[in-house]
Amino acid sequence: MLAVTEKTIRESFVNASKKEVNDLSLPDDFESVDFEKLDYLGWRDRKIARRAYIAVQTDDGLVCVMLRQAEAGPRSRAQCSWCQDVTLPNDVVLYTARRSGAAGRHGNVVGTLICANFECSSNVRKLPPMAYIGFDAEAAREERIVTLQIRAADFAGGV
Ligand SMILES: [Zn+2]
Repeated sequence: MLAVTEKTIRESFVNASKKEVNDLSLPDDFESVDFEKLDYLGWRDRKIARRAYIAVQTDDGLVCVMLRQAEAGPRSRAQCSWCQDVTLPNDVVLYTARRSGAAGRHGNVVGTLICANFECSSNVRKLPPMAYIGFDAEAAREERIVTLQIRAADFAGGV
């Protein structure tokens, strides 16, 4: 994704109040984030329990979404619905996002099962295992990266 500034992030939230945006903490390593290796930026708030955020580039520009980690975890070992990593080195949790505008004020939320610490971008950049002789692992990796970008943008757009 393209590099983003703190100012742009704070201006791009679609489902957070002014106060929530003011109170949020950026990732600790924000200054050193390598945006080229990310399809979306995701981070947990270090001060607010269960609060997390994602920043996604969409056709309408940057969209930032405030997330809440659900109390209950997935019942069985879940697959991340964004990177769909089959070897999955990390936990997957259910995050919910309040919908923007009036729907959100009426308690309307949308949920998604994704990597607990937003590891998707690094998961899809791993070369996939050889599925069969002649399997084009490079092409498969490229496809997973593009698919991840589409899924993240779809979710952000749906909020
Ligand atoms: Zn993932």
